[in-house]
Amino acid sequence: MANLDSFRSETASWLEAHCPASLVGRGDNVLEGVWGGRKWKWTDPDRKRWLETMAERGWTAPTWPQEYGGGGLSPAEAKVLSQEMRARRIPQPLIGFGLTMIGPTLLQFGNEEQKREHLPRVCRGEIRWCQGYSEPGAGSDLASLQTRADRDGDHFVVSGTKVWTSYADEADWIFALVRSDPDAPKKQDGISFLLIDMDDPGVTVSPILLISGSSPFCETHFQDVRVPVKNVVGTIGGGWTVAKALLGHERSMIADAFGATSGGGKRMSLPDLARRYGGEEEGRVADPLLRDRVAQCEMDSRAFLLTVQRSRDAARAGQQPGAETSIFKVYGTELNKRRNELMVEVLGPQSLGWEGPGFDDAELKVTREWLRSRGNSIEGGTSEIQLNIIAKRVLGLPD
Ligand SMILES: Cc1cc2nc3c(=O)[nH]c(=O)nc-3n(C[C@H](O)[C@H](O)[C@H](O)COP(=O)(O)OP(=O)(O)OC[C@H]3O[C@@H](n4cnc5c(N)ncnc54)[C@H](O)[C@@H]3O)c2cc1C
Repeated sequence: MANLDSFRSETASWLEAHCPASLVGRGDNVLEGVWGGRKWKWTDPDRKRWLETMAERGWTAPTWPQEYGGGGLSPAEAKVLSQEMRARRIPQPLIGFGLTMIGPTLLQFGNEEQKREHLPRVCRGEIRWCQGYSEPGAGSDLASLQTRADRDGDHFVVSGTKVWTSYADEADWIFALVRSDPDAPKKQDGISFLLIDMDDPGVTVSPILLISGSSPFCETHFQDVRVPVKNVVGTIGGGWTVAKALLGHERSMIADAFGATSGGGKRMSLPDLARRYGGEEEGRVADPLLRDRVAQCEMDSRAFLLTVQRSRDAARAGQQPGAETSIFKVYGTELNKRRNELMVEVLGPQSLGWEGPGFDDAELKVTREWLRSRGNSIEGGTSEIQLNIIAKRVLGLPD
């Protein structure tokens, strides 16, 4: 405990000495920040300096081993670091699927060469990753995927199409599920988990425009892409196990994102919005019915945040995420949809703006975030699929 106290005071002094003043108080939503990678465009030199400083100390991935670029902190120390950063509302130096999805998966299933090649580059923000799971005919039924990987000596030749690949146009590498044995008796058995450089000849991406007006997804096409066999994570044909473990990390990350968002961040608070647009009486939301719904949403968000924090502590203590991440995924995303819908209701006609005069930036953001939130219960596996997992693997109900 004494050690932890001195770690806390050293960490606090270090953060105060090294975090650029312009970033203090700017703690972001965990899905907004520096994603890094070869194509990243820096607009703020302080953000770049902050990433370099934190990466040098290993604190972009505080609990990862130091030999792979991490900080080697114990779970308790990592919690202290995160508390001290949160207390000052200092943003994470780096976010993205390298830190939250492929990194933890490589730590569990990667061989030494893969860890040494990829993890330090993730920690330094040099490589941005995307996820190539879904295909036009394989979303919920992921094991039906058809992207082929045919063996040719010490390479696989990969051909097929992935869809809904978030940020594929900005990513440097993709972790993809491919069918390496089309004759395997069970469809889950013939799948391999493959790491592919997006600059390899034969990889092309085409962005998809969404209802929210942005275009964060792509179709990713592979045409006879030659990928070294050494890029298989786990065993050839054993990719399903790796894929499921990564989904556990993905669902934790999504739940974590909404837990953190509910707890504050820089987004406008629901009670503030309700007071501003619905009227205020003695500092409270004037309409008792609206006040009730806002209070319920705030209480649910707070309870969810605390539960997610408890599970985050377990993850820091080295526990791999299990089927219970599906509970967080369903609850967190449905709660976020409820919150966004309530915000739109609170704003009334002011929530109908898309662009142009008559609406301020915050109002336009509410509308776009509401539309974006519709995808929350689909990404990372739909709510229906999560409920199936909870029924089978958490509650042990029969098929
Ligand atoms: C914002 C967002 C980001 C995404 N990012 C990525 C990414 O980076 N990489 C990637 O690979 N994919 C990504 N996806 C794709 C996502 O994983 C799939 O959309 C999702 O798994 C659902 O698959 P589908 O779209 O094919 O729908 P389908 O599987 O066709 O499902 C259609 C409907 O049927 C229901 N359904 C299907 N099967 C069952 C069942 N057995 N029981 C009950 N109901 C069922 C579903 O719940 C859904 O309502 C993203 C999706 C979104 C929305």
